[in-house]
Amino acid sequence: MKRDLNTLANTEYDLIVIGSGIYGANTAWDAALRGLKVALIEKDDFGGATSANSLKTIHGGLRYLQQLDFKRMRESIRERMILMRIAPQFVYPLRVVMPTYSYKMKSRPALMAALIANDIIGFDRNGLNDPHKYMPNGYTVSSKKVDEYIPGYTKYNLNGGAVWYDCQCYNTERMLLSFVHSAAEHGADVANYLKATELIYDGKRVVGVKTKDEFTGNTLDIRGKIVINSGGPWVDQLLASLNGKAPERKFTLSSAMNIVVKRNLLNGNAAGISGPYKYIHPDGSEYNAHRILFFSSWRDYTIIGTNHLVYHKKDAPEQYKVSEAEIQDFLACVNQAYPAAEIKRNEVTFFYGGFLPMAGQHPNSGEVQLEKHYQICDHMASHKIDGLITVVGVKYTTARDVAKKTIDLAFKKLGKKDPGTKTDVTPIYGGEINRFLDFQEQLVSNQPYKIPEASLKHLSYNYGSAYKDILQYAEDSADWAQLLPGSDEVLKAEVLHGVREEMAMKLSDIILRRTDMGSGEQPNADAISAAADIMAAELKWDDKRKQQEIDDVNQIYVSV
Ligand SMILES: Cc1cc2nc3c(=O)[nH]c(=O)nc-3n(C[C@H](O)[C@H](O)[C@H](O)COP(=O)(O)OP(=O)(O)OC[C@H]3O[C@@H](n4cnc5c(N)ncnc54)[C@H](O)[C@@H]3O)c2cc1C
Repeated sequence: MKRDLNTLANTEYDLIVIGSGIYGANTAWDAALRGLKVALIEKDDFGGATSANSLKTIHGGLRYLQQLDFKRMRESIRERMILMRIAPQFVYPLRVVMPTYSYKMKSRPALMAALIANDIIGFDRNGLNDPHKYMPNGYTVSSKKVDEYIPGYTKYNLNGGAVWYDCQCYNTERMLLSFVHSAAEHGADVANYLKATELIYDGKRVVGVKTKDEFTGNTLDIRGKIVINSGGPWVDQLLASLNGKAPERKFTLSSAMNIVVKRNLLNGNAAGISGPYKYIHPDGSEYNAHRILFFSSWRDYTIIGTNHLVYHKKDAPEQYKVSEAEIQDFLACVNQAYPAAEIKRNEVTFFYGGFLPMAGQHPNSGEVQLEKHYQICDHMASHKIDGLITVVGVKYTTARDVAKKTIDLAFKKLGKKDPGTKTDVTPIYGGEINRFLDFQEQLVSNQPYKIPEASLKHLSYNYGSAYKDILQYAEDSADWAQLLPGSDEVLKAEVLHGVREEMAMKLSDIILRRTDMGSGEQPNADAISAAADIMAAELKWDDKRKQQEIDDVNQIYVSV
């Protein structure tokens, strides 16, 4: 992938996609795969905004059973299986436990009934020929077994647990990047750090976007027949130029935060645990309520979420920073829900904060109620402006499906013959794998360049069958197959590849979204500095720029 701004300025596109979160990346990929000429532009780094904040759960949608929303459940179950098929290196089953009590709705029989319904609705969830992707039926267990899954958890009236399987994504950032890679492999022109500043009109038709290179400040116009606004929390900012006046808001923002704890609390499982929390109304009155906290084992860590708050600075999403007070308050709730965990503040090695569209607040508890449904808005219907579609998603899990629907609409608007989507059956970049564990075992037993096992496993998860793109650098010099000083897993070649082939422009791109060495905690200083040295040599940074990049990375791990 090369960042080629000249080509972007000199090509007439069928489709320009603004925003490379998980929605924009999937949209560009689907369109390119169907043969459209596509441009994908991102004002920051690919996947650097909301899509980087995920709890990493690929939801089958069991919770929609409460609302009897079978359609949404079917959608989620289908997408979960498709992701295991097209991205086998990233997505795998995860056991989830929910304690049961003697109360009616939370009793073992009530939850067993829910699990049976879930299995019936997901009757076709096991359509893949890979034992690593098998999703067993749900079942209930005794309190003794709950103690094995959630060590030390006790509560008055606890009488067992409900167990089911969902999926987890090993690396949401690299999975997103793989969609971008796949779009580029099918002819899309992609660029990060290129901001769409304005829409270009011809009468009542959008015919392109004005953009600004975030590094040089240079501007360039990109021309296309249809523009897809996939800007996540920023969709409204771009729409502000519509008809010269801001349209109705597409959604209200709520902030959402997860914490990462450097301890695998649940022996490799996930759990939904109810915990108390106190809401203070604007008039000062207090309301005591309960909410479900989700604890998810991920590598050597546990990710815990999600803390939802109303976000008041609606027009400035970029001003949101996770505060120390929010971390402390949330941690207190987490420890109340699961006292045996006794999580200390210094075990919280990272925190992710982003936005979710909200529908409103519960009148008593004040709890944020999230938007349930995605929106695909054709502005011809809403504003009599042709050539513009806005997409607002609500889940990482279902982005592929929403992208498919968006491109179906784009074909209708273009008046072209639609060959139909192939994204449900086409492996993404690195996904050419039949059976994941066999593939991984083979790679480890081959031990190319005497690379240590931990590192080969890391390559198999993060790059899948495209690990060869990393090893090719070792053909020039075996030194590239050496571990990056200070890292147990990351190879020097990954940094080089990130810069040369994956448009890493800042050190944080490498640390968080290419090599993945900083997605659970701040990497040690040696690793940061070694990565900065490789980038500096490639990108001709002087010492001042290099130090600035290192300082910026270290700042990511500090709350405000
Ligand atoms: C804390 C948290 C946990 C979550 N956990 C899960 C989970 O476990 N499972 C799940 O399925 N979902 C989860 N979600 C939801 C999921 O992350 C989001 O629904 C999804 O990432 C939204 O993707 P997006 O592409 O719409 O937005 P974004 O990822 O925000 O992408 C929009 C992109 O557009 C770019 N952009 C904006 N304006 C411009 C412009 N003018 N020019 C160029 N680029 C622009 C932005 O920089 C951004 O990168 C979670 C969300 C949060 C916040």
